Parts: sequence; C-alpha cells; structure tokens
Amino acid sequence: MKRLIIATTNTGKVIEIRSALGDVPGWVLDSLPPGLPTIEETGDTFIASAIQKAEHYSRFVDDVTLADDSGLCVEALGGRPGVHSARYAENPPARIRRVLHEMESVPDRQRDAVFYCALALAERGKIIWTVEGNVAGVIAHSPSGTWGFGYDPIFLLPGLNRTMAELNTEEKNRLSARGKALSELRKFLTIS
Ligand code: IMP
Repeated sequence: MKRLIIATTNTGKVIEIRSALGDVPGWVLDSLPPGLPTIEETGDTFIASAIQKAEHYSRFVDDVTLADDSGLCVEALGGRPGVHSARYAENPPARIRRVLHEMESVPDRQRDAVFYCALALAERGKIIWTVEGNVAGVIAHSPSGTWGFGYDPIFLLPGLNRTMAELNTEEKNRLSARGKALSELRKFLTIS
C-alpha cells in the first residue's frame, strides 16, 4: 500500500479529502507527524501556495504529500478576499460577517463569486502533480446551513438555490471546487 499524507490540519478539508479519497485502491491516507515547522504562505495565487505547502511538508516525510490552498473571490469586491481568505478576519464567523458587511449595498445581480481550490502533490521536496478546481456561486444575504466550513454558509449555488453549507459532504464533493479537484486527483492516484 502507498501512503498519501494529507498536509493540512483544517478539519473541514480533511473530512472532504477522506470522503473523496478514502477508498482509492492501493492507497492509505495518513496525516503529518505532529510538531513540524509551519511555513508562511507567500504565494500570490492559490496554486503557488499549494505548491509551496506541498514542497515544504513533503521534506519531513517519506511519502507522497498532498497540500490544498483555497479561497473565495467575490467580483463586487475586486476579487477579495482571494488568497487572503484565511486572514480576512480572525475566525470563520467574523470572516463571513466582514464579507456580508462589505456586500451590504450590492444588489442580487452583482453578487457573483467563485470559489477556487488548488491541490499539489509532492515527494521529498519535489512537485509531482497539481490541479485546480473552481465553482461559480452567488454571495447570499445571510448565512444558512451547518455543513461544511469557512465561507460555505454564504456561498449560494444558483442552480440549486442552496448554500454549500446546506449540502452534506458527499453532495458538496460532487459540486465544490475541492470536490472537482479531488475527483481529478482520484483518477491520478488510481493509475499511479
Ligand atoms: P486555506 O486554504 O487554508 O488558506 O483557507 C482559505 C480560507 O478559505 C479559510 O478561511 C477557509 O476556511 C476557507 N475555505 C477553504 N476551503 C473552503 C471550502 O471548501 N468552503 C468554504 N470555505 C473554505
């Protein structure tokens, strides 16, 4: 069995990655050993940050290492929070409040947003594979739903008229930026 190390401590991401990849034949999923030095994210794109994290953490383990970088880009906010999504305010509810506050006077037809997810695989400090996924949506006027994490309660899927936080993990993985990227990763692992 080959081991795939999930290089994130974000519980929401781990749940979605395990749900999508937990049963890939020939692979077992594992987490990083505790206490590794973290790395300051300096990339100005999602893929650059995912690559930076995968390269960094893969130097501490013998197995293929997966890193994820993701974020929300809101058209009416000039693409913010973007690569600063994790630092937009001090905790997830405060980040949601900030986006909603900044969008207060923005009408429905101008509330378009895109969620991006970049995944990178590295082994012993070298990148071996990358992928990006995205999903288009609309910023809701108030949060709704208890599934998922981060900005999910305000990310409305127009076709469904539900927020990402109103979908269970399997449903979210079928539609979300991470789910789309993970489905490509699944294909890659299956033939690797
Ligand atoms: P990072 O990729 O760990 O830097 O996270 C970026 C920011 O986006 C954090 O605030 C996360 O909570 C948020 N985020 C990451 N993935 C998702 C998702 O699938 N849905 C909603 N928010 C997310």
